[in-house]
Amino acid sequence: MRFYNTLTRKKEEFVPITPGKVSMYVCGPTVYNLIHIGNARPMIVFDTLRRYLEYKGYDVNYVSNFTDVDDKIIKAANEEGVDPEVISTRYIAECKKDMEAMNIKPATTHPLATKEIGGMIKMIKTLIDKDYAYESDGTVYFRTRKFKEYGKLSHKNIEELESGHRKEKEAIKVTGEEQKEDPLDFVLWKPKKEGEPFWKSPWSEGRPGWHIECSVMAGKYLGKTIDIHGGGEDLVFPHHENEIAQSECCNGVPFANYWLHNAFLQIDKQKMSKSLGNFFTVREICNEYSGQILRFFTLTAHYRSPLNFAREIMQSAANSLERILTAADKLRSVISAAKEGELSKEETAKLEELKAFRKKFEEAMDDDINTADAITAIFDLVKFANVEVTSDGTKAFASAVLDELTQLCDILGIVLEAKEEELEPELAALIEERTAAKKVKDFARADAIRAELLEKGIELKDTREGVKWKRI
Ligand code: AMP
Ligand code: ZN
Repeated sequence: MRFYNTLTRKKEEFVPITPGKVSMYVCGPTVYNLIHIGNARPMIVFDTLRRYLEYKGYDVNYVSNFTDVDDKIIKAANEEGVDPEVISTRYIAECKKDMEAMNIKPATTHPLATKEIGGMIKMIKTLIDKDYAYESDGTVYFRTRKFKEYGKLSHKNIEELESGHRKEKEAIKVTGEEQKEDPLDFVLWKPKKEGEPFWKSPWSEGRPGWHIECSVMAGKYLGKTIDIHGGGEDLVFPHHENEIAQSECCNGVPFANYWLHNAFLQIDKQKMSKSLGNFFTVREICNEYSGQILRFFTLTAHYRSPLNFAREIMQSAANSLERILTAADKLRSVISAAKEGELSKEETAKLEELKAFRKKFEEAMDDDINTADAITAIFDLVKFANVEVTSDGTKAFASAVLDELTQLCDILGIVLEAKEEELEPELAALIEERTAAKKVKDFARADAIRAELLEKGIELKDTREGVKWKRI
């Protein structure tokens, strides 16, 4: 399996630290609002990578944090007149609901920054002891220039960074930076402001900087060196660069071996973001389409390519997914109608052909998680199913094809078993009444009920397995 590693800018063969095991850390959202579908992209992409690694037989320890202390959370809390914890607790719960709707498996651990402050203080102390950090008026800074490899992830050199800072300083008066030894230094600990949540520390009553959170949580739950670190590409600099600086200076060993970054979800060629206001929440999109369609749409692009969001593209993803679900439905009805008995010779030979689709699927996924090509392999299988599986064949053959389709879709987190949607009780009662009317050959009443339901947006279809309904 090969991954494009941001650190080396190359596709590299994946070799885990411990054979058979993978440790993986993905930066999670800041919880001050409902997540948007851009935030969902890394969640879906790295959940799919995790599923594929598990399919390959790895034992995956997957850690993804919630940033539950942050300026934006404090601002939202002040606006509502509640404690910041009320805001973060609420939006963690909402985020988990969204994750479930998108069939994202809970991580092995979802640590909360506010529960790990002790570890952060300890790490900052070590950095100060090693002279990589210093305190000034209650604030602790990281001595960036002392880490000779600073810039290795974002491929920036110190001179470039320095001139960038100089311009920034000339353009705007940067306040509160006067106590820094060097403009490149970044904050590890900052003193509280009035009304902010705080923790006691040797330097001040205050709170940690954002970067130190991830270094500490990754180290605590996964160890000093981890296999894979992921997140959106906006996190490469400064967040991940700073995580590397902190962790490597503290521990003296490489922090992560493979750095994977997803590209942005865009609208009109611009990054979808809360600050630009050009976003849709996962909740809105799940209500309009479904979590499954959103997941499928996200996976139709390679994770390192920008993905454009537009209603037509979502609709076309919905139609494509529908083709897969319809093929699965058809396979299920063939299974219930087809004959029992052993596979025929021809069927056995046909099943050999199936292997090609799985091979293509695996080759795509092995090549830097190319979900777009993996989906093409699934469509090849769908085509095969539609042509080759008929009720003239055996149940065993149709079952084998459905099994294959189910397994491949499952790796991508796509569920073929349509979840039973609840119908309003009064509508369900009408369907029952219609079935009863048909039984006593009162077709006029049955037709009237069908028409009434249609008016209410429910279309009925009589099938071999009984009456089915769908919303139109
Ligand atoms: P945030 O809550 O802004 O820290 O973002 C949480 C995660 O979502 C990070 O990994 C970001 O890189 C990622 N992210 C934010 N916006 C987008 C976007 N438009 N497309 C893809 N990923 C994004
Ligand atoms: Zn992080």
